[in-house]
Amino acid sequence: MAREMRLSGVAASAGMAAGTLVQHDVGRLEFAADAAAGRPTDPAHERQRLRQAVDKARAAIADLSAGIEAPAADIMEFQLALLEDADFLSPAINAIDSGAAAAGAWSAMVDAEIADYAAAADPNMAAKADDLADIRARVLEALCGKPRALPPSPPASDGDVIYAAGRMTPSEFLACDPASVKAVAISGGSPGSHVAILARARGMPMLVNCDRELLDAPSGAGALLDADRGCIIVHPDKPQRAAFQRRFARYQNQRKQTGKRANEAAFTADRERVAVYANVDDPSLLAGVDAAPFDGIGLARTEFLFHGDAPPDEDAQLAAYRELINWTDGRPVTIRILDAGGDKAVRGVTVHHETNPFLGLRGWRLYESHPELFDTQLRALARAAVDASGQLKVMIPMVTRPAEMAKFRARFAEVVAAMQANGAACALPALGMMVETPAAALDAESFDADFYSVGSNDLIQYTLAAARDDPRVAHLNDPRAPAVCKLIRMTVEAARARGAGISVCGDMASDPGLLPLLLEAGVREVSVAIAGVAAVKQAVRQWRARTDDAK
Ligand code: PEP
Ligand code: MG
Repeated sequence: MAREMRLSGVAASAGMAAGTLVQHDVGRLEFAADAAAGRPTDPAHERQRLRQAVDKARAAIADLSAGIEAPAADIMEFQLALLEDADFLSPAINAIDSGAAAAGAWSAMVDAEIADYAAAADPNMAAKADDLADIRARVLEALCGKPRALPPSPPASDGDVIYAAGRMTPSEFLACDPASVKAVAISGGSPGSHVAILARARGMPMLVNCDRELLDAPSGAGALLDADRGCIIVHPDKPQRAAFQRRFARYQNQRKQTGKRANEAAFTADRERVAVYANVDDPSLLAGVDAAPFDGIGLARTEFLFHGDAPPDEDAQLAAYRELINWTDGRPVTIRILDAGGDKAVRGVTVHHETNPFLGLRGWRLYESHPELFDTQLRALARAAVDASGQLKVMIPMVTRPAEMAKFRARFAEVVAAMQANGAACALPALGMMVETPAAALDAESFDADFYSVGSNDLIQYTLAAARDDPRVAHLNDPRAPAVCKLIRMTVEAARARGAGISVCGDMASDPGLLPLLLEAGVREVSVAIAGVAAVKQAVRQWRARTDDAK
């Protein structure tokens, strides 16, 4: 009987799975080295071979991206953009002109790029190293004509696979058949990496940053992965399997039971109503999703609209906002102005190479450099406000000074006045702000906001000075920190004093384990991940305000 291995990792996507471990094909790197050793021939011929291989790789990526949605589409788009960039290819072309073979020139160039990206302090940049590894393999495959060995076919008789890897590229993840691959464990990576984003979008359990011994575990071994407990057991014995199956059944049953009451309004145990709204990153995610469990949309991020080559025009934006309004069917919809910058780069808008992008030009701070971009969004929102019959609210992200809110209000009013002067059907919606910085929370009563929405993801990172996407400081990025809870409580009190609405839309609100902290701080409106609504409502029902005696 093989020795049991109990390995730990960091949950990047929740859930549990039992299956057969399949190791990612490590031979891929040797294949790249073989190709690099090819003999140089005529430079003109080698140049042509490289260009043809790049074209073939582009076509393969374009095929793979057909019909997929953000964020996977964005990742494919990044890969396509690189392959279409003449500057990107030029070091390889120069090397060929100096006598290198196409495969060697290509490998050496991409390896240098991968090393640069992998060493970047910014985890978003480091995550792009996987995209480059992916492109390198594709072009080499086209050059050398060898098929890629990914993903391996599952050797298990029942077909359920837990895929293990040192790294995993986005297209390798997309190539995994969800009918057989039930979970993924990676020894590298971080919860902010692209594959982690894809896993969450697909609801596939994923562990990242696993113990290195993961890669020593043999393909074909039985394995149990529990993302919520942050562990994977290889070669589990019978009692362990049985215990896991019992927990798994409980977990599934709980989800089923919780789901039954999803459509009922949420009241705390002492009958206080808590409104539960939906967070929406992309209206396409709403297809087939029932709006009944939600009191409306509490946060619609609009970054999804700005991923193409050119920003969407007013009509295209209006159509997207109408989709949200139609989905909620008369309930409130809160839309956030473009929050470009920080970890959300938008081509042509955000500034590259900022020393600290989270503290640089992001969100509404970009107004001065891109007034027309924001004015177009305000016009589309003013038109959408008519369709929403008074239920549309619009907010700005990343505010630190009352003057920013005042400027937003004044500019929106000017835009609406100009449109009305031209006879356009439009209206000024309720205007609010995200509370994502300690400055906004500490001084909330000084802002002229109709409502506040706490963005705990950013509020936590700015309060604790611990980046939200850096696994090295994840232990400091703690929603339970008393400083964070105090800031949320202060915001609630300031909002009440001003008679303004107050909700929490950061990820903290979607975590049933953290919800009591928010309820204790006086929060009675939350906006949550769509898949989390039932569990959040359940947590609301179990919560009871502490009496003074109990405090
Ligand atoms: C937040 O910061 O909590 C938030 C909701 O905004 P985002 O995650 O888009 O930065
Ligand atoms: Mg934020």
